Amino acid sequence: MTEPQTPMLFLDFDGTISRRDAVDVILETYADSKWLTHEEEWRAGRIGSRDCLRAQMALVRASRKQIDILLDGIGIDEHLVPLLEMCAIQHIQVHIISDGFDYCIRRILSGGGKRIGALLRGGRVCAGHLESRGRLWRTDFPFFHQTCGHGCATCKPAVMRLLNKTNGPAIFVGDGFSDRYAVESADLVFAKDGLAEYCGEQSIEHTPYQNLGDVAAHIDCWLAGRVFLREESLDRVSA
Ligand SMILES: [Mg+2]
Ligand SMILES: [Zn+2]
Repeated sequence: MTEPQTPMLFLDFDGTISRRDAVDVILETYADSKWLTHEEEWRAGRIGSRDCLRAQMALVRASRKQIDILLDGIGIDEHLVPLLEMCAIQHIQVHIISDGFDYCIRRILSGGGKRIGALLRGGRVCAGHLESRGRLWRTDFPFFHQTCGHGCATCKPAVMRLLNKTNGPAIFVGDGFSDRYAVESADLVFAKDGLAEYCGEQSIEHTPYQNLGDVAAHIDCWLAGRVFLREESLDRVSA
């Protein structure tokens, strides 16, 4: 019989790894209040997240230093390192897929210590691109240049298909509205907050979680169950 394929882990960033949504924090602090109008349009489904974020970030006026100070105050889930360590032991490749921005992700992760960088080596960070031009902030969306049907800043299901070349089981961990397309492409979904609500309403099978420690424990059990099932069926074959 064939060996079960190694799963791949896809982590949302804002609110899943980070304690708060970095883009929201930036907008609340440094954007003209018009950003809220774009937010409403996005929540109502009238515009995609790409158009929304492009318009919102154009309303930000802040120096790089001001943004960095803000990002340094956000912090990350303290169970990220144990989760990544478990994945390293189990040979699970981990990728971060985010509708937010690379600049914020790299800054926040670097504040979490060197161990995180080492553990994430080999994985990808797929997100929008953000860079400062004086007090203005320029956006770009390298994943993918052509907008998807949802209008995503970074289309999570498309990135998941792109990275998961061997089509192993896809595990997705998320917390919010921008994760709603990703869950349809995942074999195992961990959801909290808005995403858990959404999955509940749509009857999408998911495991609720509070922090990344819950996710690590659950994946570990799930993998042990897979090994048990495999050994049991091998016993049956040889009996
Ligand atoms: Mg999120
Ligand atoms: Zn999309």
